[in-house]
Amino acid sequence: MVSRVIPVDDFDLVIFGATGDLAHRKILPGLYRRFVAGQIPPDAQIIGAARTDQGDDDFRAEAKAAICEFGGVKPDDSSLAEFLQTLGYVPIDAKGEGGWKELKSRMRAGAVHAFYFSVAPSLFGDIAERLAGHGIADDDSRIVVEKPFGRDLKTARALNATLAQHFSEQQIYRIDHYLGKETVQNLMAVRFANVLFEPLWNAQFIDHVQITVAETVGVTGRGSYYDKSGAIRDMVQNHMMQLLCLIAMEPPYHFDPDAVRDEKLKVIRALEPVEPQEIVRGQYQSDGKAPSYLEDAEDPNSSTESYVAMKVRISNWRWQGTPFYLRTGKKLRARTSEIAITFKEPPHSIFDDSGHPKANELVIRLQPNEGMNMKVMIKEPGPGGMRLVQVPLDMSFADALGPDGRDMPDAYERLIMDVIRGNQTLFMRGDEVEAAWAWTDPIIQAWEDSKRRPEPYDPGSSGPDEALRLMHRDNRRWREIR
Ligand code: NAP
Repeated sequence: MVSRVIPVDDFDLVIFGATGDLAHRKILPGLYRRFVAGQIPPDAQIIGAARTDQGDDDFRAEAKAAICEFGGVKPDDSSLAEFLQTLGYVPIDAKGEGGWKELKSRMRAGAVHAFYFSVAPSLFGDIAERLAGHGIADDDSRIVVEKPFGRDLKTARALNATLAQHFSEQQIYRIDHYLGKETVQNLMAVRFANVLFEPLWNAQFIDHVQITVAETVGVTGRGSYYDKSGAIRDMVQNHMMQLLCLIAMEPPYHFDPDAVRDEKLKVIRALEPVEPQEIVRGQYQSDGKAPSYLEDAEDPNSSTESYVAMKVRISNWRWQGTPFYLRTGKKLRARTSEIAITFKEPPHSIFDDSGHPKANELVIRLQPNEGMNMKVMIKEPGPGGMRLVQVPLDMSFADALGPDGRDMPDAYERLIMDVIRGNQTLFMRGDEVEAAWAWTDPIIQAWEDSKRRPEPYDPGSSGPDEALRLMHRDNRRWREIR
């Protein structure tokens, strides 16, 4: 299957924080891949901005090293030199007044203007104010803001209000890279472009849903930073909430940014408060070699969670009685992100002696190996009567789409191209982010009030035992993390 690459309009993209980790790891290599794919017009400009005092050529050398290291590109790659010519650099301190005039002089009339805020959120307001104040941004410009978007409802509201002083909601692209994943978008295609699933997509036929985001790494090296957030702020309020919304939302009337986001917002607003006994927090211990969470966080008294599991209910007609179980953690057995939808068992089995039919399961893998897997019952092949066996109907996108599937754009590159196209469908709207915090805040507050310490768990395990019990109480089991 050949994937079509449609070039975007001519653009000037300014990356604030271009010397930082995210720019090096994701943004610059991603833009290079889009360039190679032919999606970036020849005159487009990518301008780095940060405090580091350097010129265009220094930044090109820096970008080249980053693209080679993180993009797996060879230094003598023939397109690389060509791509580097699209890059420029202006030294700017977000809090100072120097450099802005120079930046303005580089922006071309007629091109789409986009500004990527790949800096600490505390600088978002300074940059927004100066872009507007120096007349660099206009009504058609777009800004891209990174996570975290606030640390609670109050700070998210304040950030929304700050950005709103200079930019309209249609200009603000709040990035959640989970939404840029091929599989996540495919979730919408599967649900709304097939007649097969949607009639079954409700509490009558779905027993429960599990969403898992498991990592094998701990927080070594950034423990004191992570300790201010924890798993619920870092993963649940944003990424997992977005996945939950896409599974649970009603069909939008059209695949249009506001129609999709309106439906997602309704899901968040329908979330019931989580009971304290239906949530488990954990902290990884030391395995004798690697440090424990407390050592990584450099705070022996930290009660921040590196793991969280919870049972979530959605209060609406479609989902009454179908729980959604969410879990995410560091230092777990395997690195995997998946959504598993377990259907109900057939109400009556006609195959008395051949094994009871097992429930169908649809598993959507986000990583590794993006794809979908549907488990169905069939007759065990061969003679010997009617025996039932469950088999997977596996659709790995990399295999199904051939060489092009293997070369699927990374979430960041896809999302940046959407910014240039002016398509906000895969970005969070301000009211969505606030509604997500409004649901998360009381959970965090209840923990803080309870003063209960997180449950310890072994590195390389699937989390604290208490999380297993959360499921067992409902006569269900977590899927294996592997
Ligand atoms: P980082 O490595 O610390 O980089 C920060 C960047 O901001 C550097 O380029 C720095 O360059 C620049 N900067 C700092 N102070 C500045 C100022 N006053 N004026 C102008 N530029 C300034 O951070 P990062 O990991 O790239 O993260 C950037 C943003 O992305 C953060 O909001 C983070 O939460 C978010 N994020 C990062 C990742 C990731 O994988 N790294 C993932 C998700 C979200 P100079 O020192 O040269 O000024």
